[in-house]
Amino acid sequence: MLSYFLLGFLTHLLAVASDDGGITGPTTSSDAAGYSCDASKCKLPTCNCASTSPPGGLKPSDVPMFIVFTADDAVQSYTLDSVNQFLAQRKNPNGCVPKMTYFTSLMYTNYTLVTDWFMAGNEIADHTMTHVGDPSVDEINGNAVALNALAGISQSSLQGFRAPFLNYSVNTLKRLYAAQFTYDSSATSSIPVTDPGTDAFWPYTLDYGMANDCLEVEGSCKGQPVLPGFWEIPMYAFFDELGVAGPHLMDPWLDAPNGGSKPDDAATLTYMKDTFTAHYNGNRQPIGLYTHPIHLSTTYPGVNASKSTIDMINQFLDWATAQQNVWIVSNEQLLAWVKNPVPVSQLNNVDALKCTPPQIDASAKICNGIPNNENGLLSHCTFPDFSFSTCVSQFSVSLCSQPLNDFEYGCPEVEPTLSNPNPAQQVPDGLQPRFRLPANCSTAFWDPIGNKCLCASDSCAFTDISRPIGPAGANFTGGGTGGSSNGIPQPSSPAYVPFSAGVSQLSGLSHLVLCASVGLLFGIVECSKHF
Ligand SMILES: [Zn+2]
Repeated sequence: MLSYFLLGFLTHLLAVASDDGGITGPTTSSDAAGYSCDASKCKLPTCNCASTSPPGGLKPSDVPMFIVFTADDAVQSYTLDSVNQFLAQRKNPNGCVPKMTYFTSLMYTNYTLVTDWFMAGNEIADHTMTHVGDPSVDEINGNAVALNALAGISQSSLQGFRAPFLNYSVNTLKRLYAAQFTYDSSATSSIPVTDPGTDAFWPYTLDYGMANDCLEVEGSCKGQPVLPGFWEIPMYAFFDELGVAGPHLMDPWLDAPNGGSKPDDAATLTYMKDTFTAHYNGNRQPIGLYTHPIHLSTTYPGVNASKSTIDMINQFLDWATAQQNVWIVSNEQLLAWVKNPVPVSQLNNVDALKCTPPQIDASAKICNGIPNNENGLLSHCTFPDFSFSTCVSQFSVSLCSQPLNDFEYGCPEVEPTLSNPNPAQQVPDGLQPRFRLPANCSTAFWDPIGNKCLCASDSCAFTDISRPIGPAGANFTGGGTGGSSNGIPQPSSPAYVPFSAGVSQLSGLSHLVLCASVGLLFGIVECSKHF
């Protein structure tokens, strides 16, 4: 079963990743854009005209050079290990380990790891439930519901979206706006910053419509769509020796550079440095490493990531971050700075760039995505084609000479689907379901077993938003239990395997005990132990 799953996962991910997000030339022109924006009316932090100049009227020399790091598709231990190869050992100028944005789709995603990755400071964003282009409302909103219910990500933290295959439409943008997303990042900046017609705009709001991809997206541009306060964060391409005819967007290291026929790490490193330098010496528009981490995994069976390519990407980041005022950031962090731009001399005061872990009792045993707290509490839900971990919680009763465990965020009774992204939980007879993250508690402090918030001071107080992402646009407020609770636990399944690189304190998480219960006194009839 497991090998079948792994093979299916690999085939699926390599398939979706390989044709995800390529461009071959300019995707817009000033004629096609027909863009005009009244800068006297459009003002930060809620409005920003599409412009190649830095926000807030800052001089480029006062502007940080941001490298946005993103990953797309399923969150699994090996995809996180893959990202950690590039980020875990680094520090930004303020001493914090860089954060990144993970555009997560439901398929094959391990929800426990989503919680862990989020609590490690990274941004979790939406990439649809089943990885389809031009997605329906249910594809977009269902994924947000599932991430909130099953991974405990607050709704106010789910701000961003990227369309699978970068295939978005005007309707996609309108659907995101209606669901109260903050930004989309599916559009392409496809013309070099050194070209007078460049479309390398700083992130902008759609108060005056789109200015990117005007040759590609029907009904876009020339003032449309008007979505006040909704942001587009363009994806900035690298360009090889062919200039505008040689763009490289996602996973540029998989492309053949300079019109060649096969990938070439040395040539790729050269053009990545050249494009970075053009941004750095110009208006300092951000640049991005937009990755499908499975291609760079060294821990996934069947993937033969090139060590030379991995080394090359690290060489690029070593080189870039050795320069003054270079930061590796998530989209969320980039946007926070754009909304309230301050010169580089004040960056240490920018909250969004800080790394302050929540102050929570290290001995508290709750599945909150923090290694010390959830250590030993993790297990898998068993589904035919998902590797789906969730938290389990310890009970005081044991018939296995080991603590008896139960599901925490609660394995759903059935796989989440478009029509049912928040299924009822499996709940053993006589026990209560786990309470999902409510609107008045943040992920780190929520005890889903005790149904209480461990936050006891103003410093950790939290109020989430509700959003119209429920069925037929109904408000979704979080909390609850996901439905009725008459199920029984699934049989045991392979142990949780944490992502490893750079996060050594996670070792030991995979030791757990799982008991299936039927009958008397919590009814333990079968116990199995996994390491
Ligand atoms: Zn994708």
